[in-house]
Amino acid sequence: MILLKSKSLNIVAIIAHPDDLTFFCAGTIAKWSEDGHNIYVLCCTSGNIGTVRTDLTMEQVADMREKELRAANKILGVKENLMLGYPDGGFIPDPELRKKLVYYVRKLKADRIVTFDPWATYEVHPDHLIVGRMASEAAAFAVFPLLYPEQMKDGLLEPYACSEVWYMGLLGHLPNYFVDISSTLEKKINAILKFEASLTLIAQLFAPNIDPANVSPEDLKKLSKYANKLFRSMAAGIGQKVKLKAAEAFYVQKILPGHFDNFQEQMREMLGNPPEPPKIC
Ligand SMILES: [Zn+2]
Repeated sequence: MILLKSKSLNIVAIIAHPDDLTFFCAGTIAKWSEDGHNIYVLCCTSGNIGTVRTDLTMEQVADMREKELRAANKILGVKENLMLGYPDGGFIPDPELRKKLVYYVRKLKADRIVTFDPWATYEVHPDHLIVGRMASEAAAFAVFPLLYPEQMKDGLLEPYACSEVWYMGLLGHLPNYFVDISSTLEKKINAILKFEASLTLIAQLFAPNIDPANVSPEDLKKLSKYANKLFRSMAAGIGQKVKLKAAEAFYVQKILPGHFDNFQEQMREMLGNPPEPPKIC
């Protein structure tokens, strides 16, 4: 009997800052990569203000964070990292970003986008909100041949119908998908440890005497132990909702040309009917 291999998807994570993806859904990304899907990471800003240190220039911070992103994503099995290089901190021009993201949805033939929820409750970071919004619009609009027709000149690109958007991190809606990350949690923690920002957070929480900018091998061992404690308990807390040992949570919207395929869900919510149980994968 011939077993048909399930189709490999092109999955594009569109994030604002180099460490966004790792923190929120590295376990899922590693799992999808192990399952044979093609993972691309598109980082919109250089993350060049992302430190509380006072001894670094913006260029040095951007350089450091790009190296961290590449080291972390290597662990996760990411196929390609693309840096758009916008400045960090709320300076991304929306329409220009949307056009670029439509270009990448078409170029990479993105079947699934992973990004921030632009309707998230208590999300204050403008980069997360703008990137989430423009990534969602790009996913829904890349299929229209009359949108940015210059991208299709010479036949290099074609309109492309992206199928779904997976929102990670802070959500504006209860999660409707949980991914079992018990087999990839270790990769997630190792990837998180590649970022100085993560080491800073862990040191602040558990070991304020350690200077994250000058971590000795002994310090790294300690921070790694604390990171394991923190991220294993976070994953267990999320997993508990759906009886998994370790999970990451998402809100997923399926896409039709120009809008989300959510009419039934909206009706159910308007009528006050209970939501469908979340899917586990
Ligand atoms: Zn961020």
